[in-house]
Amino acid sequence: MRNLNTAYIDGQFVRVQGTETLEIANPATGAPLAVVTLANRADARRAIAAARDAQALLRQTGKAERIDMLRRLQTAVLRYTDAIRDVTIEEYGAPVARAQWVSQYASQCFASAAQALEDYPLSYEVGTATVTMEPVGVSALIAPWNSTAGTVCSKLASALAAGCATVIKPSELSPLQTQVLCEALHEAGLPSGVFNVLLGRGADVGDEISTSPHVARISFTGSTQTGKVIARAAVETMKRVTLALSGKSAAIVLDDADLAHALPLAVGGAFMNNGQACVAGTRLLVPHARMAEVTERVREIVGKLQVGDPRDPATTIGPLASRAQFDRVQRFIRRGLEQGAVLVAGGEGRPEGLPEGFFVKPTVFAGVHNDMEIAREEIFGPVLSIIGYETEQEAVDLANDSVYGLFGYVYSADVARARGVAARMQTGSVLVNRIDPEVLAPFGGVRQSGVGREFGLAGLVSYLEPKTVAVR
Ligand code: NAD
Repeated sequence: MRNLNTAYIDGQFVRVQGTETLEIANPATGAPLAVVTLANRADARRAIAAARDAQALLRQTGKAERIDMLRRLQTAVLRYTDAIRDVTIEEYGAPVARAQWVSQYASQCFASAAQALEDYPLSYEVGTATVTMEPVGVSALIAPWNSTAGTVCSKLASALAAGCATVIKPSELSPLQTQVLCEALHEAGLPSGVFNVLLGRGADVGDEISTSPHVARISFTGSTQTGKVIARAAVETMKRVTLALSGKSAAIVLDDADLAHALPLAVGGAFMNNGQACVAGTRLLVPHARMAEVTERVREIVGKLQVGDPRDPATTIGPLASRAQFDRVQRFIRRGLEQGAVLVAGGEGRPEGLPEGFFVKPTVFAGVHNDMEIAREEIFGPVLSIIGYETEQEAVDLANDSVYGLFGYVYSADVARARGVAARMQTGSVLVNRIDPEVLAPFGGVRQSGVGREFGLAGLVSYLEPKTVAVR
């Protein structure tokens, strides 16, 4: 079992002043994996002070110096690709393919941000004025546990491209992934304080960051519930806040869809990252006329999924990340049954042959109504709800009938028709006949799925603030 008790502040690993410890379990076995000593408010203040100092320096940098720093980070993280993949499997339980994707994406983020900065004019003329795009200032990057390396690197890349120093607070539930990532980032040899990383509870470290007068911006990814707490705390000092929050995305199968192509994708889109994905398409909207065929095919596809050891490349679904996640998903499956949904696959309890760890059965319900809890709430596990519709307009209305609006998916043989449906879906993104996102395009949600956009150009701009100078 590993003991972790450092934060990364001002260019070095320092022992945290906090004393609270937290034990992390191996999700595949339930056995203890690591004990982490959490940072406290004093550590957070120290990290913010280091970022403030570095901000003074970063403010003076131009494109070339920032691009150089981004390239150095890219190279350093690229060297750690395998280590990041392995720790994502070990601590989080991601299947190999997913862990591989995240670890590669982590280094690519820096290349994408460098490209976005290269192409973006940091100064332009408007009327009689010159407008300069200035870094907004010290930025806090707060991340959840379901994609640590990807979320942290994506935010850090955009912030640094804009010339913002950062205080990064990954989830306290991913200490080993954070440690490996910090070691990688450290090797880039950037000036001290440009990025600082610490793990701590939301209620103290998170709150210290959200209320600090020295933090100008917060980029948060996590639950809608926490996003609201952060936004309220941050308004007092008028921080610029972007929130990437929860989702309950719909996948619409149109009546002309090729089911042999659409349904494996739709199941993959619902169960990606072991079902712990904000963008998961967990409501499958199906024309009543094709319901029987779809249900049968989905049952078959899910029956062939391999649940088990995430280190085995053949595994498609690993364990959930924690006992709390396991309990949460079991609760929702019970609720689905109580509210009258029809079990198509999976159900309560552990999969056969997996008595340990936080494995759940990939579960599919049919006969789901959009007002059932399993259709309204983000479950964050491999649970798919099939909902029937009569007309295309009803499908769109059902998709939009959610407090969330992160992603949407459309499956159709007619791309023009699918685009028409996508245009009517109220979400930040819609994917047609695919589940792989375009990582250079703006990413974010509408309604309670968030505020603001990340990735690529949108990410860069979100850390910049225009300053107008007009001279007589
Ligand atoms: P969470 O909201 O519990 O925690 C996210 C982060 O916020 C953690 O680092 C946590 O320590 C911190 N935090 C908690 N309270 C805080 C406070 N008061 N002030 C400041 N920080 C605080 O979320 P989670 O359980 O770690 O992650 C799962 C959630 O994240 C899901 O709802 C999922 O949909 C969402 N998510 C969204 C996206 C997206 O891009 N929209 C991506 C991944 C995950």
